[in-house]
Amino acid sequence: QHVVQRASLENVQTAIGAGALSATAATGIDYAAYRADGGYELLKACHDDDATATHVLTQLDASGLRGLGGAGFPAARKWRIVAGEPAPRYLVVNLDEGEPGTFKDREVLERDPHRMLEGALIAAQLCGCEAIYIYLRDEYAAIRRQMQTAIDALLADPPVPVPLIELRRGAGAYVCGEESALIESLEGKRGMPRLRPPYVAERGLFGRPTLEHNGETLFWVREIAERGGAWFADEGRHGRSGLRRYSVSGRVAKPGVYLAPAGITVRELIDEYAGGMAEGHTLYGYFPGGASGGMLPARLADVPLDFDTLQPHGCFIGSAAVIVFSTADRARDLALNTMRFFAHESCGRCTPCRVGTDKAAGLMAKPVWDAELLEALGEVMRDASICGLGQAAPNAMACAMRYFPEEFADG
Ligand code: SF4
Repeated sequence: QHVVQRASLENVQTAIGAGALSATAATGIDYAAYRADGGYELLKACHDDDATATHVLTQLDASGLRGLGGAGFPAARKWRIVAGEPAPRYLVVNLDEGEPGTFKDREVLERDPHRMLEGALIAAQLCGCEAIYIYLRDEYAAIRRQMQTAIDALLADPPVPVPLIELRRGAGAYVCGEESALIESLEGKRGMPRLRPPYVAERGLFGRPTLEHNGETLFWVREIAERGGAWFADEGRHGRSGLRRYSVSGRVAKPGVYLAPAGITVRELIDEYAGGMAEGHTLYGYFPGGASGGMLPARLADVPLDFDTLQPHGCFIGSAAVIVFSTADRARDLALNTMRFFAHESCGRCTPCRVGTDKAAGLMAKPVWDAELLEALGEVMRDASICGLGQAAPNAMACAMRYFPEEFADG
């Protein structure tokens, strides 16, 4: 019944291995091995030679890489905006990874932490950032140790002069994955989203221009620079462009993190990557983008998964957390589960979200849903909440009513 909740447990067991949370978790590619494989050479070249730095930015542009944390803002454009702002500037790496069903950053960090660090250092170099703050989900205890080891090894024998790198721990608030709330949290304040403008690129951490990126976005920098932006852009399926990592969980045979083309459909993702549906289960629907990205029925299993392709269906891909559910589940239960999650995680700053999520969860717990009232509530939350949490909170609820009407035949 609670596919959304189970997703996080399955992540641990299948994508990374049951022992991953122990102190003896896999250490990934270490500093010496990463250097031996040409690691940090690109950083050195960017440091020594303006032409290489220009090449990196050109390739990033050509790749069309967009922020993979959820917002999808073009990476190269963001770098240029921040670089054009007055110094001092900062880089913030968002490793809060709190969207239910999302565990892709964890996978790349455990496997190859230096690749993400090199991407961060190159971004800092090109944008003139004088410090890097890495905000890591506190539940990732093993990764924190691993990341600190990686940073220490880098600082003990740096390939070039490196800026200050600080590894900071989150404290379990979902809303701190929102970029401005994360910055508030980094500044030592309660994690509440800021009103914008000004945007964090202009006035972010400590009031200074800030480049904020998701870990996977930075993880791509070296490979795109080495293989060329055209290589990345030529990947993709169904007319879409690029590659990304999908966190696949729920009723599939092999949940896990899969590197797959942008634009792949959920049917292809399940059949080609996730080993098909779990035994005894028939596809009934899926969340294309975690708890916040809405949900779709099996008859829409051939919609390309990418930025912009899901909006006409009232959904979005977000961080590409694909949660699959079956005829053993009920969409209305899953929607209620997500609404309770948002009610719990609402920071309380604005009324439509603070009161709306709570009220909606209460209404959705009743045997008969008051569709008219819930729709009106959803509209207010969408229109009047100040951050993505409140704006996206009604998505699953609206999708349940729109796509699974048979579950509401009694009222
Ligand atoms: Fe806080 Fe919700 Fe308002 Fe976002 S929408 S600022 S989480 S109360």
